[in-house]
Order: sequence, then C-alpha cells, then structure tokens
Amino acid sequence: MAAALQLPVSSQETVSRGMTTVTFAETALMSSYLIGFIAGPYHEVTDEWAHPDRDLTLHLTVLVRRAMADHLDAENLFTITKQGLTFFHQEFGYPYPWGGAEPNAEGSARGKYEQVFVPEYNAGAMENPGLVVFTERLIFDTAATEAQHELRANVIMHEMAHMWFGDLVTMHWWDDLWLKESFADYMGSLAVDEATDFDTAWVAFANGRKAWAYVQDQLPTTHPIVADIPDLQAAHQNFDGITYAKGASVLKQLAAYAGRDAFRQAAQRYFARHAFGNTGLSDFLSVLHETTGRTCTPGHRHGWRQQAFRFSRSRCPRTR
Ligand SMILES: [Zn+2]
Repeated sequence: MAAALQLPVSSQETVSRGMTTVTFAETALMSSYLIGFIAGPYHEVTDEWAHPDRDLTLHLTVLVRRAMADHLDAENLFTITKQGLTFFHQEFGYPYPWGGAEPNAEGSARGKYEQVFVPEYNAGAMENPGLVVFTERLIFDTAATEAQHELRANVIMHEMAHMWFGDLVTMHWWDDLWLKESFADYMGSLAVDEATDFDTAWVAFANGRKAWAYVQDQLPTTHPIVADIPDLQAAHQNFDGITYAKGASVLKQLAAYAGRDAFRQAAQRYFARHAFGNTGLSDFLSVLHETTGRTCTPGHRHGWRQQAFRFSRSRCPRTR
C-alpha cells in the first residue's frame, strides 16, 4: 500500500498487522482546493532531478496501479519531467517551493515531485502541489502515436507550470481563473516547444487548443477571459475553451507584443512579489508595465474585459 501527500513523511508507525499510521510534515501556505491525498496498492518508480545552478534536489516519483506497471514507460516520463523542471526554473526564476523544498540553514533544499496516474480519474489532471494526479489514460497500454506522446508531454508541462501559476500564486477569486489556466495552457505548449524533442507543439496548439477556443467563442455561452463569476457554480462552468485556450492564445500574442525577455522578466517579478499570495489582473499588468515600459490605463483594462481580452487591438502607449 502506498500513501502520498504533497509533503515528506515525518513519521510512520505500524499500528497493527496491515495497518500503518503515516504522519506528514506541515504544508507550506496553500489554497484549500489544492490539497491532495492518494492511497492504494500503487507501483512506484523513482528518480532524481537536480537544479543546474542551485543547491536544490527533487526526489521524483511516478505511481501507477500495479496492473499497469508493465505499461509504465517511466524513463520517458522522467525525461519530460526533468526537462520541464529545468525549463521552468529558468523561466520563472523562483525555486520549486513544494514537497518540503524549503532551504535549510546551509541554503540547500531537497523536495519531492510526485506524479500519480489514477484509474477512472474524472478529469485530465490536477495540480496538487508536489503531488500531481493524472488520468490513467495517459499510460499507454497499446502502441501510442507521436501525437499522443506529445499531448502527454503537454499535460505534464501544464500541471508543472501550475506549481508556480496557481499554486505558488493563486487568483483572489474565480474571475481570474485565467491567471492560472491560461498561463498553464500557454506555458505547457511553450515548454514542450522549447524544452523537449517535440517540434510541433505550436502546430498542435493551433489545431487543437486554438480551434477549441474559436468554436467556443461562437457560442452564446462565450464570455470575457477575465470573467464575472458570482458563485461557485459559475466558477465550475468557466473551466472551458475560453479560460484555457483563448486565454493561452492571447498570452502568446501578449508575449510577442511585449517581447519574450520582457514577458519572462514580468513572470519572474510576479512570483518574487506575490509568492504564497493572491493576485488579480492588475497585479500581472503591473509587472508587465514595469518590464515593458508600456502602461495600460483603467480604460484599457475595462476594454480588455469587455472585449474578452483582445490585447492585439488595445492601444497601450509606451511610457519610455
Ligand atoms: Zn490547468
């Protein structure tokens, strides 16, 4: 039997035959919707990732149910995982903060990043800090196409981006769900494109994600990317092609408009300033303004909300 939480195990005690009490360490500050716990007769494979420059090591684990163990291509999963961890550390400039990865007195840190493939999981994946849960459909029990492998890499990168966008910094309220989902969608494709051997990430994005957004945007249910969410039911309905794919498309445009370096610096400043805190649209626009020199007035911000965040048509004058 394996049990996993976002945290290192602080103690483990056998209570009686077949029964063990597992005590986990205290979590870093996190939103309540992010808590995750799994238990079951899982098959585990482990590996390790080390930061190229810092004294930070992560213990990596992938878990599948034992009946799927023969189909688990752990080496491939770890390759993508390590490529992603190195990429996001360069991109975000903030060390992975979960799984007990707080630095000790010597400045070195050792955390963990676990990925669990769960049978009959009711979603694609969930970004519990340090314990990402995926649908078991991503473990291939028959020959898989290149596109399936690339899609799986994209999901792995999407959830990993959430360790920062969503988990380290969380939106104040569901109006700004895009602050984690649009970013994770954009960053997922960016990481696959720039950090892995796949070379069709943006083709897949245009054909799959962006096409999804175009279709959804023609429906009567379309809405601005920065949405008006009065209650939790509305929040639930907002996990859609607008919040994910249209938002990611707009962010891709925005990165091109701001410049790749300025956009990266804005993300780094955003995490440095708001780590373990909550944010909204204006917080992201502020750091973008600082790194690009382009400012957007309240009128522009209002326009973006009304126009479903059409950055390309906004007129944001240069201030320097
Ligand atoms: Zn997501």
